[in-house]
Amino acid sequence: MRFDLLPPHYQLTEIMLRLYEQGLTTTSGGNLSIHDEDGSIWITPAGVDKGRLTPDDIVRVLPDGTAQGRHAPSSELPFHRRIYLERPDIRAIVHAHPTALVAFSLVGQVPEGRLTPQTFDVCGPIGYAPYALPGTEALGERIAQAFGAGPNVVMLENHGVVAGADSLLKAFHRLETLEFSAQTQINAASLGPIEPLTVEQVALFRHDHDPLPEFAAGRRSSAELEGRRAIVDVVKRAYARRLMTSTGGTVSLRLAEDDFLITPYRFDRKYIEESDIVRVLNGQREVGRAPSRAVRLHRAIYAAHPNVRCIMTAQPPAVLSFGVTRSVPFDTKLIPETYIVLREMPMADYGLEFSAPQQVAQLVSAQTPVLLLRNDAVLATGSTLLQAFDRVEVAEFSAAALLRSRALGALRPISEADVRALQQKYFPDEQPTKR
Ligand SMILES: [Zn+2]
Repeated sequence: MRFDLLPPHYQLTEIMLRLYEQGLTTTSGGNLSIHDEDGSIWITPAGVDKGRLTPDDIVRVLPDGTAQGRHAPSSELPFHRRIYLERPDIRAIVHAHPTALVAFSLVGQVPEGRLTPQTFDVCGPIGYAPYALPGTEALGERIAQAFGAGPNVVMLENHGVVAGADSLLKAFHRLETLEFSAQTQINAASLGPIEPLTVEQVALFRHDHDPLPEFAAGRRSSAELEGRRAIVDVVKRAYARRLMTSTGGTVSLRLAEDDFLITPYRFDRKYIEESDIVRVLNGQREVGRAPSRAVRLHRAIYAAHPNVRCIMTAQPPAVLSFGVTRSVPFDTKLIPETYIVLREMPMADYGLEFSAPQQVAQLVSAQTPVLLLRNDAVLATGSTLLQAFDRVEVAEFSAAALLRSRALGALRPISEADVRALQQKYFPDEQPTKR
């Protein structure tokens, strides 16, 4: 989907509905705008149900201040206008009150911007604007001042968050990515102190060092077409289930020995299409296409494990919280499903996925099909896409249950004897492991 080809009122409606669907705004909260080339501001209306918005509801405010449309413009128009005056490079603004970011705003804190490299890559530095009465020029002045210092995302004290960008889709990506990162940070805070990345560690993530050589793709086999379709399905499903964000999560599927399909670098997980998927053959990428930054890691895992056919990485906020603190390890002996689906879940140190992918690949085995990549992602392997997907989903559900249990009492994991009984029943061919 070419989002940038939609007219402004369609873009605004689409993103407001996405915010609502993803649970990032309420019926009454949040407002979005686009600064048009002619100087007019297209903005969401005041007092209209945000869960049922249509393009006809959007208001266009001309440079002379006249409003065109069937509703009044959002009461927060003043701060949108002030940001556009302050930052001509910002062409679109997304404002909402998502719960994790509001939690930070309630205690006067800014969420950690370097919890994962993705957060920093998408959001950059984060600004802070002190409280002022909604809809006033004073609020506009404080927010514009915070944007004036350079950040593209600004936290509003006792209020919410504002994200800006040169396109509406990018502004939405920033808000959504920071909200998920904030959820991860809050989950981790219940476990112990978080360990954010350093500037140098974040720099390891950069995509453009050393791109793979290219090959010219010929006629596509039916297996390849089938694979592209299957990857698109699983990515959209992961996004709808909030296991992936718009900007985070990778899926690959092996076609033959050193031949696989993988999701591209930088794409929106909701709008992905079959033609976006990149084929990687013998270490070469399809001509002109950029595969995910995880391409070398996926290739190393396929090379070391002939039985692995699919890999999925994602950053869901419950399980990832165990990867941003060292306080509590993630224990898989929770309920039978967790142990049967995930087995043991080792942790790979941050950066190895870029600098030593073969080392990370060595951590994968039949007893360890899922890894936690520190400050980065959960990585699940499988013999089918559905198996890899299920492993990510089970990891997230199990971690969410574990986090919730902490408010109730001390964890009582399954006993060693019960784990041995599970092994004997579900994995009878394995040698009993020394525990
Ligand atoms: Zn607001």
